[in-house]
Amino acid sequence: MKLALLLLTLLAQTALAGTHHFVQLDVQTTANRTKIANLIHMDQVIDGVAYSVVNQFDFDQLQKKVPKLIQNSHPMSEQEINGGRTPRPGFSDYEFPKGDEKFHTYDEVNSSLAASIKKYPSIATALNFGTTLEGKTIHGIRITKEGNRKSPYVTPGILFVGAHHAREHLSTEAPMGLIKYLLENYGTNARVTKLIDNRDIYIVPMLNSDGAMYDIKGRKYKMWRKNRRKNSGSSFGVDLNRNYSFGWGTGGSSRNPRSDVFMGPAPFSEPETMAVKKFVEEHSNLRMLLSYHTFSELILYPWGGKNEGVGGKDQETFVKMAKQMATHNKYKPMQASGLYIATGDTCDWAYGTQGIFCFTFELSPKSRWRGGFYPGAKVIDRVTKVNIIPALEMIEWAGDPYAVLRKRKGDNVSNGLKLFTY
Ligand SMILES: [Zn+2]
Repeated sequence: MKLALLLLTLLAQTALAGTHHFVQLDVQTTANRTKIANLIHMDQVIDGVAYSVVNQFDFDQLQKKVPKLIQNSHPMSEQEINGGRTPRPGFSDYEFPKGDEKFHTYDEVNSSLAASIKKYPSIATALNFGTTLEGKTIHGIRITKEGNRKSPYVTPGILFVGAHHAREHLSTEAPMGLIKYLLENYGTNARVTKLIDNRDIYIVPMLNSDGAMYDIKGRKYKMWRKNRRKNSGSSFGVDLNRNYSFGWGTGGSSRNPRSDVFMGPAPFSEPETMAVKKFVEEHSNLRMLLSYHTFSELILYPWGGKNEGVGGKDQETFVKMAKQMATHNKYKPMQASGLYIATGDTCDWAYGTQGIFCFTFELSPKSRWRGGFYPGAKVIDRVTKVNIIPALEMIEWAGDPYAVLRKRKGDNVSNGLKLFTY
C-alpha cells in the first residue's frame, strides 16, 4: 500500500515536472521587467505586457515572487503545445510531428551538409565545430574559395549559428536556406560570387542538437529550451544563451538549475558554448556574427546585459546595420536590452571580448498568436527568403564593418537579386 502511494506520488511529480504554463505578465515598469527577467524568458513583450510559456518550476517562482504581476495564466495541455499535430507511430522517434517533416532533424542537417560539400567541393568544406554534451558532432560548413582556406585566417570572416535554443527550430532552417542559396548562386549571381571569392563564411545550423532532438522526440513538441545537461538535483539543461562569460550571472538569468534561464554552474560550462568560444578565438578573421533565434521578428544588437548602448562609432555602426537589414526582413531593429536585461548571451560576449559585430535575429512569427515557437512548416520558405539579403549584407560588411557608415542610402542594391524557390 505504502509503495503504491509512493509510486503514485512519484508519477504525479513526473507529470507535473513536464507541465508548461502560458503566462501573461505586467511589465509596465522597468523594475517589474527586471524582476521577471531574473526568473523567466519573456517570449514576447508588447505594450508593457509580457507573454511567455514557462515550465512548472518557473511558474511556481512567478507565483511565489511576483504574484501580483501575473495578469493571466493557464496550464498548457500537450495538445495545445502541439497545435493539433498528433504523433504518428511507426516512424523514427526523432522526426518532427506530422505536417512539420520539412524541418531538418539532426541527421537531415548532416546529410544535407555532406551532400552540399560533395556537390560544391571548390567552395564548400566540412566544418567540425565541436561535440555536444551527449557526444554528437556539431556539424557546420565553410563556404569560401579554395585559395582562402589556408591558415592563418586572413580573409574577412563571418559566423552564422542556429539553434542555441532547442524549440526554436526555424533558427536551423534560416541558416540551412542560406547555405543552399549561397552554393546554388555561385558563378551565376555576381554578388554571391564576389562574396564567396572574398569572404570566409562559416555556418553552423544546429548548435544545440541534443536539445532540439529531445524537443521533437516521439514526434511531439515539448517546449524545450535548454541543452540536456543533467544538473545537480533532478533537473536538466543549461540555457546556452545565458552561459557566455561576458557579464555572466549579473542579471536576467537564474542560478537555479530548474529554471529555463539557468545560466549554468560557471561561464562556458557547456561544450556547446565552449565550441563557439574556441572557434571564435581561433579565427581572428571573424568580424561579424549572426545568432539565429525565434520568435518576435526582431534584429537585436548589444548590449543585452545593460541599458546603455555600446557608444561611439560602433553604436552608430550597429544601428545603421540593423536599420538597413530591417528594410529587407521588416523586423524591428533594437538594442537587445530594450526588451529586458539578459546576461551571458552570445552577442555581448562576441562584441564585448572580441570586437565582433554580432546580431541576434528573433525570426518569425511576430507573435504567439501566429504560432509562437511552433508556427508550422509553411513559414519556412518565407522566413528563409526574407533573411537572405540581410545575411548577404552582413557577409559584405565583414570586409569592413565601418563601411556601412560611409555608404549613401540606396548604395546597397538588392534590386535584381535572384531569390530562390524550393
Ligand atoms: Zn532563443
